Amino acid sequence: MSQFRQNFITKEWVIIAPERAKRPDQFAKKFSGDQTPKPEHDPKCPFCPGNEAMTPQEVYRDGGPGDWRVRVVPNKFAAVSPDSSPARRTVGRFLEADGFGRAEVIIESPLHNHSIAMMTTDGVKNVLGAYKARYEELSKDENVDMVTIFRNNGPQAGTSLVHPHSQVIATSMIQPVVRNLMQQALFYHDTYGQCPYCVMLEEELKQKDRIVIEGKHFVVFCFFASRTPFETRIIPKRHNSHFLGITKEEMDELAEILRITLKKFHEGLNDPDYNLIVSSSPVSDGELHYDHWRITIIPRLTTPAGFELGSGIFINIMPPEESAKFLRGVKAD
Ligand SMILES: [Zn+2]
Ligand SMILES: [Zn+2]
Repeated sequence: MSQFRQNFITKEWVIIAPERAKRPDQFAKKFSGDQTPKPEHDPKCPFCPGNEAMTPQEVYRDGGPGDWRVRVVPNKFAAVSPDSSPARRTVGRFLEADGFGRAEVIIESPLHNHSIAMMTTDGVKNVLGAYKARYEELSKDENVDMVTIFRNNGPQAGTSLVHPHSQVIATSMIQPVVRNLMQQALFYHDTYGQCPYCVMLEEELKQKDRIVIEGKHFVVFCFFASRTPFETRIIPKRHNSHFLGITKEEMDELAEILRITLKKFHEGLNDPDYNLIVSSSPVSDGELHYDHWRITIIPRLTTPAGFELGSGIFINIMPPEESAKFLRGVKAD
């Protein structure tokens, strides 16, 4: 039987409606078309070593110019640009502004066919080091209020570029959807005197059946009101509203846990397309008692249709308990 479940933070409802015919492994990506293995180096790829001149001037590099491990460059095809102003102006009764912002590409490895799932933990540490360094740098811009770090993996997730990369976009805009989420968290804190994310984590650890990995500092789980099959959260146990507040010890564990989580996806679901998002409080907000930074991974295995778009209610055909059980069972050391 299907059931409605409420998201503990947003108060939004989802419908968990398991399709009996579908086992977790049936979500694994089926390959079609060209299946030739990708090369380690592609002479035409702007992100491959030797082609550094094809990208804009780098803003960050881990390693030497000729033997870098991670590079960050401004996004050549960005939707926003720093050479403009965040000032709003009116057009009649409507509001607009220049496309101000900073968009960068984090090239995660010199190897064209690499992926975080296949890296060593040290390799993932280098990528997270770049995340933190760029987050810190972009936050310093007084016109920047929101820094979003994300990773699109595969065409269904919005990228056709093979070379492993993440992106960071800094804007002066904070969307109502972000504020509404924060507002709900604030109401919870005002009512119960606790951060709702800390409470949710405590409850998930108590109920246990949606936990994929529990580390000393981080918990990986498919949360109670997941919108899609295998929707996964990585949440720090220590309350902290900003990603920048992560300690060295936490960063080391996060690298290991992120690698294992993505390897489980890679092995169990056949390298699915997915979006990974690092959510953190707006930079100008300071440390907040009610907000809690986190990583969300949404595999693109189903497509939201008219009902989801019209009602905002997602129908999830894989109960998160089963998603978590499946992911726990995938070997990924
Ligand atoms: Zn490449
Ligand atoms: Zn918290």
